[in-house]
Amino acid sequence: MSRKFALAGAVALALAVTPIAAGTASAAPASTQQEAAVTTVYYSTASAPSFRSVINAGAANWNNSVTNVRLVERNSGASLRYTEGNDPRGSYASTNGHGSGTIFIDYTQARQYNPTRIAAHETGHALGLPDHYSGPCSELMSGGGPGPSCTNAVPNAAERSRVNSLWANGLVATNQQRAVETIYGF
Ligand SMILES: [Zn+2]
Repeated sequence: MSRKFALAGAVALALAVTPIAAGTASAAPASTQQEAAVTTVYYSTASAPSFRSVINAGAANWNNSVTNVRLVERNSGASLRYTEGNDPRGSYASTNGHGSGTIFIDYTQARQYNPTRIAAHETGHALGLPDHYSGPCSELMSGGGPGPSCTNAVPNAAERSRVNSLWANGLVATNQQRAVETIYGF
């Protein structure tokens, strides 16, 4: 039962987050100072109607966990699309790691594993996190690694911190990652 798969040609996302030194914006108008800007990622559940509630639950778990990016459901013009169906490879995310791409939820896998964990895990990829199958159940990105009995759908402290760092400067990160599309399993 190989539910996980590593992508051929997976490209490591090398993201250089440029810290903004405190005080460097002292001469700038208030609107451009280094207050952390929240980036909104719009996602569509229109093509995954069976899983709308678990997708929204997974997104809510992320919204309750991080501050620099916010997931908002909007079926028109969304950069992140959820789909559903049958695929022997299981669920996956095809994403640039910065809020764009497609997340597929597999029916068979969603019956075997906690579907909210699947949705939240795949969403974690869209927010920039890689797989870490050897991790414990408390780690969302361990995916199917801990087995079907693991129902945790909430990122741990390290995962929250990592996502906040990746989105600390949303616009710069978007420009750096836009061209890189990688597929991750569950
Ligand atoms: Zn994964």
